[in-house]
Amino acid sequence: MQRALFPGSFDPITLGHIEIIQRGLSLFDEIVVGIGINTSKQAMFSPEVRQRWIEIAFRHEPRVRVACYSSLTVLFAREVGAQFILRGLRSAPDYEYERNIDLLNKQLDPNIETFYLLSSPQTSFVSSTLVREVIRFRGRLEGLLPPHIIEDIYKLYPGGKPVTA
Ligand code: ADP
Repeated sequence: MQRALFPGSFDPITLGHIEIIQRGLSLFDEIVVGIGINTSKQAMFSPEVRQRWIEIAFRHEPRVRVACYSSLTVLFAREVGAQFILRGLRSAPDYEYERNIDLLNKQLDPNIETFYLLSSPQTSFVSSTLVREVIRFRGRLEGLLPPHIIEDIYKLYPGGKPVTA
């Protein structure tokens, strides 16, 4: 059984993350999506909402499960029995960032190997940070998030509609 941990903030999960998980399922038997809870970072959505949105996105895929954690990623990987970590790469800055985390993780636990998947051109511009910016200004979310999340967020917009629609 090859199990991978896909760690991140997922605040919120985007079509970019979903694509990486779907492609990861052809490499691993099981993927645990780990929502890292960072108490010093102010999130837009609660851990419970982030978890529910991911669970709904993969409700027909029993090989994906979702959990929150607030420890070191390698420790959580070990806790869930994952020998691998999965990450997505969009750009050179992503690579630079991931490289340091990879070296640190290897230092902490040399038995856990990280796999990187390059994002597709359709989603390589999508980040949760940019999505949160669009949400703050009540913009359109189509093409950035899955429909069930868009529906929930539009309910919070004044009049239930994006300003640019
Ligand atoms: P973190 O806060 O750890 O960067 P994120 O939730 O932003 O967590 O991202 C989790 C993982 O998903 C990271 O490996 C990130 O590079 C990757 N990722 C984020 N957006 C995309 C995207 N559009 N395409 C591919 N990978 C992505």
